[in-house]
Amino acid sequence: MQMNTRRKFLKSAGILTGILALNPVKAAEIVTARKKKPHKPIVLSTWKFGLEANREAWKILSEKGRALDAVEKGVRVVEDNPQERSVGYGGRPDRDGKVTLDACIMDENANIGSVASLEHIKNPVSVARAVMEKTPHVMLVGEGALKFALLEGFEKQNLLTPESEKEWKEWLKTSHYQPVVNIENHDTIGMIALDASGNLSGACTTSGMAYKMHGRVGDSPIIGAGLYVDNEIGAATATGHGEEVIRTCGTHLVVELMRNGKTPQQACEEAVKRIHRFIVQRHKNPRELQIGFIALNKHGETGAFCLQSGFNYAVHDETSNQLFDAKFLI
Ligand code: ASP
Repeated sequence: MQMNTRRKFLKSAGILTGILALNPVKAAEIVTARKKKPHKPIVLSTWKFGLEANREAWKILSEKGRALDAVEKGVRVVEDNPQERSVGYGGRPDRDGKVTLDACIMDENANIGSVASLEHIKNPVSVARAVMEKTPHVMLVGEGALKFALLEGFEKQNLLTPESEKEWKEWLKTSHYQPVVNIENHDTIGMIALDASGNLSGACTTSGMAYKMHGRVGDSPIIGAGLYVDNEIGAATATGHGEEVIRTCGTHLVVELMRNGKTPQQACEEAVKRIHRFIVQRHKNPRELQIGFIALNKHGETGAFCLQSGFNYAVHDETSNQLFDAKFLI
């Protein structure tokens, strides 16, 4: 019997009143279940390009598909787009002129897969999924990741577009590494979704900080830093200066805060405050950094917060696909 029908039946029979009187715990459960009817399906992702990624994910979610498929397909749209210069094909290279990609994926059963510093493959998120589903490991890096991808049939291609190459050559003239906050040289797509069956999954993919050292790995492919999902609690993903997110195990922190009763919004705010404290403690200037979190709980409630203004995120549910400016700390 459906929950609602059952409640109506119990009520009309006067049984609910009986339960309330005799068993307050049970009664509390019934009331909570009613209050927390999950808002699903829903998908959210980082930055403006999240709008087009959400649209793709929504095709799957609206057909009652799996959140895992939705997040993979969703972020691939941005990986495929050479105009997006911070993810996948067309992403800005490292200081040696190499485009090295980081990505990870996590499903409702705590299955995880990740690749880091992967060259020549346009869709690292799908390689990450293959690591998750077809290997006994959770993370492959560099040449090993490439070898695995080729064995799996992924196409090897040049990811350095003429535009990215031209900019890199310009950068080489000064070779000054100072990532500019909120400017396209550091935008990752992180996507988290709750599907019609009530399951959560997430994906995160990036070309990382432009002109990073060759071999540098950011937070995006690291489970618990750039992405974390606990199907009983919620999911979170991050963007911005990966070193700061790794230092705080950022998305794991957000999910644990939700576990301890925080709303997704409160959890994102507290995690950003923790990062801010660590930055100040190390005598760094927070104004030179940006970090943004988005979070989603099991009930479909969302949250987002960042260090300073400029971070936005896109939310798609059954009513709309909308871009929001995240609130910020400083
Ligand atoms: N978090 C990414 C990294 O550190 C970059 C970004 O999202 O801006 O590689």
